[in-house]
Amino acid sequence: MSEESEAENSETHRARLILSLRSGGVSEPHVLSAIERTPRDLFVPDLFQERSWEDSALPIACGQTISQPLIVGLMTQALNADSRSRVLEIGTGSGYQTAVLARIARLVYSVERYRTLLGEAEQRLKALGILNVVTRFSDGFDGWPEQAPFDRILVTAAAPETPMALLQQLKPNGVLVAPVGRGPVQTLKRYVGDGLGEFHVEDMGEVRFVPLLPGVAREL
Ligand code: SAH
Repeated sequence: MSEESEAENSETHRARLILSLRSGGVSEPHVLSAIERTPRDLFVPDLFQERSWEDSALPIACGQTISQPLIVGLMTQALNADSRSRVLEIGTGSGYQTAVLARIARLVYSVERYRTLLGEAEQRLKALGILNVVTRFSDGFDGWPEQAPFDRILVTAAAPETPMALLQQLKPNGVLVAPVGRGPVQTLKRYVGDGLGEFHVEDMGEVRFVPLLPGVAREL
């Protein structure tokens, strides 16, 4: 394929993806624009390159997955972050959701338990010129206490139950979005602080995420 038609092709794929996110309920222009400006092919392994712009989760290294774009859109929208927000993300994975968040928030703190994934994600973010992300190789169950409290917290792996340690690192008016549940299907939950130390919880529907696992991975 010529370079020009390849570019056209990628643009058609992007436009199609944005349309399907809109019909799936992503309506915030800044979220749609952040996704449109983030080249998902950069985050997808070679084997699945042709499927980069499909609205589906795909396998990445270490037995993990890059999230489905619609879910990235809905979670980012539910987080309601803006250019003043300091956001904690648990589960860097490929770095795709991190890149989308970084286009919206002031600073993203991202934690991952696989060193290999973290290294690759850092390279991709650097290649995209994204500078407002700091990463840490550690167990996300613990959050990032030294940098708390956060305006927003996004968890991209399934927590077995309400992640209390993370809620404690949220500002009183903060928002935390996380898949919660022990089985293969979990409930996407949104916790919104009332400013007085209590949280309202909203169920946002069923999702399928890889589980949040305790400790850092010993393998690469
Ligand atoms: N947002 C990512 C999705 C990654 S899948 C993307 O768009 O690519 C979930 C990630 O959470 C995996 O990389 C997994 O290793 C990581 N993870 C699971 N348990 C964790 C923990 N306790 N601490 C930090 N990261 C964790």
